Amino acid sequence: MLVASSPETKLLLRKLPKAEIHLHLEGTLLPHRIMSLAQKYSVPVDWNEIHSRYSTRNFTQFLELYKWATSFLREPEDYAFLAEDAAAALHEEGIVYAELTLSAGVMLLRKQNVTANFTALRDVFHHRAQSGTGPQVQFIFDAVRQFGPAPAMEVARMAADLRNAGVVAFGLGGDELSVPLSEFHSAYSYAAEHGLHLLVHAGETGGPEQIKDAIDILHAERIGHGIAALRSTALMNTLAERKIPLEICPTSNLRTNALNIQLNSATSDLSQHPLPRFFAHGIPVTLSTDDPAMFHTTLLEEYSAALQMGLSFANLLVINRTAFEHAFLLDPARQSFLAQLPPVL
Ligand SMILES: [Zn+2]
Repeated sequence: MLVASSPETKLLLRKLPKAEIHLHLEGTLLPHRIMSLAQKYSVPVDWNEIHSRYSTRNFTQFLELYKWATSFLREPEDYAFLAEDAAAALHEEGIVYAELTLSAGVMLLRKQNVTANFTALRDVFHHRAQSGTGPQVQFIFDAVRQFGPAPAMEVARMAADLRNAGVVAFGLGGDELSVPLSEFHSAYSYAAEHGLHLLVHAGETGGPEQIKDAIDILHAERIGHGIAALRSTALMNTLAERKIPLEICPTSNLRTNALNIQLNSATSDLSQHPLPRFFAHGIPVTLSTDDPAMFHTTLLEEYSAALQMGLSFANLLVINRTAFEHAFLLDPARQSFLAQLPPVL
């Protein structure tokens, strides 16, 4: 029996070629990078402020942090620095493939040149992958739900324009309680018609009906978080039967208070996380960090957390394989990743 925190377990997990498919690039922005960008732009910031903002306890605080931290990303060079930091961290953890979400909706709101930002950061990742010092990557353009359907359509158009440059999917994140998913139908139809895969953050702080709408109305292929499914056996059955994956981010669920919300509790902890239940129910589940710098986590820590929840190392091998199986890869690329993985017992 492997102990979650033992050096032996950590080494095995580190060596396992892993996929990270729910990762917001802006959520990898490290405090020291914030400090150097603040100095670059002559914004007065001290360490107390950074540490206090990086200690989120609920979803509203997290959205505030996200808005504040990304306000320091102003030009392509800043995104290139961000990409360098992220590629190095992913490589260090043994992540060989990543689908990186970019908040294109935030870039557009700030009137930035999305294509120039994207090209700068993509070039860093490609260079890293070619030199064997970073994972292979593909990109997801995310719209912000509370900004509404018109800006989301603009993001879908940008994503479609950059489809041949490495953008493979269109997604929606932000505040689930703001605008109904049905209002994004046109943006999702447009994205689908232009060959993009479809993702939705749903059932994170919202209820199971959000997940149902994401599947039924927007035809989401994977659900970001989806932990609200624990409140509906019928929905869990649907996810299992239709093999629709939930991208599970345990530490994020604690830091945004999402787990407490779903469990209707003020004091939930990881031992009550529904991941083991979803896994046992036959729902495809993957493990991710969401915004690792902001939530003070790594993918290896998420895997260790899953062991502490009672999953076995063999279960983790299945979860990692699931991420490659449901990644937006084409053959033979997918097969070549799968061939690197140890057999699932
Ligand atoms: Zn997310």
